[in-house]
Amino acid sequence: MTVGNARYAAVAAITSYKPIEKPLDFSETPSQELFGQNVFHDAVMRARLPKPIYKAVQRTIKSGAVLDAQAADAVATAMKDWAIEKGATHYAHVFYPLTGATAQKHDSFLSPDGNGGAIAEFSGNQLIQGEPDASSFPSGGLRTTFEARGYTAWDVTSPAYILENPNGTTLCIPTAYCSWTGEALDKKTPLLRSMQVLNVQAKRILKLFGNDSPGRVIPTAGAEQEYFLIDRNFFYSRPDLVVTGRTLFGAPMPKGQEQEANYFGVIPERVLAFMLEAERELYKLGVPVKTRHNEVAPSQFELAPVFENANVATDHQHLVMITLQRVANKYGMACLMHEKPFAGVNGSGKHLNWSLGTDSANLLEPGETPHENAQFLVFCTAVIRAVHKYSDLLRASIAHAGNDHRLGANEAPPAILSIFLGEQLTDVYEQLEKGPARKSKKPGTLTIGVDTLPDLPRHAGDRNRTSPFAFTGNKFEFRAVGSSQSIAGPLVILNTIVAESLDYMATELEKATKGNPKNFNAAVQKLIQKIIKEHKAIIFNGDNYADAWHAEAEKRGLPNLRNTAEVMAAVGKKEHADVLSKYGVLSKREFESRNEIYTEKYVAEITTEALCALEITKTMFLPAAYRYQDLLASTAVSLEALGKKADIRSLDKVTRLISELEDRIDVLEQAVTAEVKGGVVKHALHCRNKVFPALLAARESSDALEAIVADDLWPLPTYLEMLFIK
Ligand code: ADP
Ligand code: MG
Repeated sequence: MTVGNARYAAVAAITSYKPIEKPLDFSETPSQELFGQNVFHDAVMRARLPKPIYKAVQRTIKSGAVLDAQAADAVATAMKDWAIEKGATHYAHVFYPLTGATAQKHDSFLSPDGNGGAIAEFSGNQLIQGEPDASSFPSGGLRTTFEARGYTAWDVTSPAYILENPNGTTLCIPTAYCSWTGEALDKKTPLLRSMQVLNVQAKRILKLFGNDSPGRVIPTAGAEQEYFLIDRNFFYSRPDLVVTGRTLFGAPMPKGQEQEANYFGVIPERVLAFMLEAERELYKLGVPVKTRHNEVAPSQFELAPVFENANVATDHQHLVMITLQRVANKYGMACLMHEKPFAGVNGSGKHLNWSLGTDSANLLEPGETPHENAQFLVFCTAVIRAVHKYSDLLRASIAHAGNDHRLGANEAPPAILSIFLGEQLTDVYEQLEKGPARKSKKPGTLTIGVDTLPDLPRHAGDRNRTSPFAFTGNKFEFRAVGSSQSIAGPLVILNTIVAESLDYMATELEKATKGNPKNFNAAVQKLIQKIIKEHKAIIFNGDNYADAWHAEAEKRGLPNLRNTAEVMAAVGKKEHADVLSKYGVLSKREFESRNEIYTEKYVAEITTEALCALEITKTMFLPAAYRYQDLLASTAVSLEALGKKADIRSLDKVTRLISELEDRIDVLEQAVTAEVKGGVVKHALHCRNKVFPALLAARESSDALEAIVADDLWPLPTYLEMLFIK
């Protein structure tokens, strides 16, 4: 019996792959000319807008002043003309609903002119506000379906841009998305709110250090994106990849990443061609992509941009994900953003580099003078306090089904949040904690209570790759973010909790120095000392993978929330809701609705995986196994008929594995169809504790079958094929 084997067809298609017809030529248009070509950026506005309008827009961008209707009309007209010159037929409000995806609603510029013709129109109103029919986006009870109105509102601080398609282009306008009652239904709105709060609190600290007009303080972000690339023929012959984004099955490869030959290795030609085009597209969109390399796992790669204002960086990060996926297609590949597409192979993360800066200074730059050191230490201490105090809230911001395969599994980084400071900075804090410094290195310098500290490290000497939250020279690197996630969520929490710490510190310092500024130095010293005593438990410079650390972390009282279900059961405490509502980042209702949406999403994802696994095992694996069993049984019968003794060891093994798989499928089916009462968090826990293990058990049996069933009968591409044939 022959089986139409999709695998062999896929391999055949790959060997006859042809590169795209007309290669790109960067000497025709150098990348510096391409950069920002499709962005309605500052220089374009300056050239195209009347001066007073341009100034009004700048005021809105810099200080948040409201843009009046007349100015908006003028901007809209200029934007439309510019876009039409670039081939645009439509405009789209782009927003980030709580699904974590990017959403766009396209509208044509054309309107009937009443005389049988049409004119291209785009008004200030259409620019500023949109109304997508929003009933199918999650709202967590904030909006009942009959009140389906959701509004998108232009975010003036993130530039509009043009997305190209071979058949035309679209003007894209970054927007915030909220319900008709003004409640946030997206990821951008709270991000903008959190940035505003951080600005206010950071400025109070700067003022105490004598800086009355620092300009706006903004959080900066740079996200390193890891991803896998596999041939599209393999992708489409794996229903699990298509439906869930990861392989639910697959026997381990004879050749793995243990040889570690990939990291920074030569990039395969087809992949490099893809990267060159993806980067070119991103340049046009003004996304400052900078570095690329092979990652540790086979077929895994990374791309990193230069950091930007956190809001723009977030919009750009969404564009990076969309662009990688779109361009990969063109090169006959699928770009996998899932955190763990292949079990037993390194997962993918998104290192979120984060700092705070003014136009002229990075506030997390240690600097070389004692005075700046003290200011740096205040900001750094605020981060330490925030991450310790709200560790579980920060953990929640990166929790979802995909990321569970990294965090809390035996791989980097762990689910326990801790901060790596590096030896030198840790030593500084140890000195500070003990009080007056031991020796005076620079007698006579300005006393800030810390004048005897050693110069702070510009680059933390070593890098601790196991740390989930590491100080890396002049920024913190949050490494526990998942590769598929929007960086908006973790940024919102980080900004807010650091703002709360800065608020606390500014209040304490203002109290202490009231009436007598001479007390400032001593007050700073005393406050840092107090905070470090209370919060040093979060600092850990050792190996985060070690079992010893898990035991130690427990002693220190650090939460270890191993998976999304546990996180969702723990998050939503009063202090979580309070810190978000106190600063107007998320109201209690908005926060609760989000937790509900994320928990429902978790349930949906695990359920989908289970249903997909059931279908694959029943309709693909078992038939293959039964065919092979039949082959072995017939062979045995034939041999016996010839009077020969048949060896039935393989037959026994297959028979045993088949019934084991049948049993485990039953268990999985029962678990996933069970009715769970008591709310969505209960359901999430059921998914984690019953469905997920049942899925793993079924996988174990089918992977064992994959290892012995005849290769030409096995229906799905293997790990080796997917990861090594390109
Ligand atoms: P490293 O050598 O530590 O990996 P890089 O300087 O190459 O650091 O930066 C890694 C990422 O960190 C890049 O995306 C970069 O833009 C970002 N980054 C650098 N400085 C900052 C900053 N001040 N704020 C936010 N991100 C930053
Ligand atoms: Mg990194």
